[in-house]
Amino acid sequence: MKKMTCKELGGACDLVFEADSFEEMAKLSQAHGMEMWKKQDADHMEAMQAMQALMKQPEMMQQWMADTKALFDSK
Ligand SMILES: [Zn+2]
Repeated sequence: MKKMTCKELGGACDLVFEADSFEEMAKLSQAHGMEMWKKQDADHMEAMQAMQALMKQPEMMQQWMADTKALFDSK
């Protein structure tokens, strides 16, 4: 079981997610992000907007995914 924080996954808080695979980790982070979005949490909304901007740039997004996956693997 590996642990990563919301911040490490492109979020805005120190909530810790635990998962066995990177895919599972990404799902937990996304679900949490949606939850915080619904609550109109300003920090998370800002973080999600930054992620959406990143997604519009495939190369940057790929780099971010690679970096985040590497961080997961190093845990
Ligand atoms: Zn969070």
